Formats: sequence, structure tokens, C-alpha cells
Amino acid sequence: MNDCIFCKIVKGEIPCHKIYEDDNFLAFLDINPVSVGHTLLIPKNHYRWVYDIPNFGDFFNTAQKLALTIKNSPLNPEFISFLTMGNEVPHAHVHIIPRSQNDPIQPVLSSIPHLKLSEEKFLETKELLKSK
Ligand code: AMP
Ligand code: ZN
Repeated sequence: MNDCIFCKIVKGEIPCHKIYEDDNFLAFLDINPVSVGHTLLIPKNHYRWVYDIPNFGDFFNTAQKLALTIKNSPLNPEFISFLTMGNEVPHAHVHIIPRSQNDPIQPVLSSIPHLKLSEEKFLETKELLKSK
């Protein structure tokens, strides 16, 4: 996509702090990090959402490899969070975020009002979604 910022990074038209690249994927430091080492992994081809990536399994295997590399690096985070929001940049990506128990990152869902659903609604939803 011509006006996609991550496609421009893939094409080398915009610089990035690259930490990993293979034929299909590219990982670079997030320009506006929430922790040191906050990384984005993207497919080189443009897809809107991560579930659109045909080799989805390879994508998350690569995310796991990067997370373990970060985990075992001198950054030495306590754990890593993965996040796929995709609200700001419409090119599939996963955030790989080095974390510690005392960091200021709040659980994403805790800031959102939760639904109170009846048991009937749960049952109805399950019927709509369960694999045949
Ligand atoms: P979201 O789409 O909500 O998952 O967020 C997109 C992320 O991309 C944000 O964390 C931005 O800081 C990051 N970002 C946007 N432009 C760049 C860039 N040129 N280089 C690195 N990270 C970027
Ligand atoms: Zn793109």
C-alpha cells in the first residue's frame, strides 16, 4: 500500500531501528515505546489484520523467537507481553513488550467497561460460535 507507513519502512523509504528480518517478516523498535525494547513485528506484505496473514503460524513463531531473544538479552525483562491492537497503523503487527511486575503498563482490558451477560446470552453466543 502506497500510503502505509509500515510498507514504507519495508521498502526502506522510512528508517527504522531494525532488530530482525527474514523473507517474510521484519521487526523494529517502536518509535514511541512503552518500555525499553518495545518491538513491532510485521509481515513484509501489507495485510490489515494479523489474522489476514496467510502464514499466521510462522508470524507468531517468529514473535516467540524474538520474545525469547529479548527475554535472554541484557535487557533482562521479567516477562513479555504481546499485543495486537492495530488501531493506529493499518498494517498487521504485533507489539512485543518487555515487562516487569512493577511497570506502569495497565492491563488493557481493565480500562474498558465490561458487559454483564445473562447465562442465556452466553449459551446463545456459544451456539453461534462453536465449531461444527
Ligand atoms: P497500533 O496500531 O495501535 O498497534 O499502534 C501502532 C504503533 O506503531 C504505535 O505504538 C506507534 O508508536 C508505532 N509506530 C508508528 N510509526 C512508527 C515508525 N515510523 N517507526 C516505529 N514505530 C512506529
Ligand atoms: Zn502496509
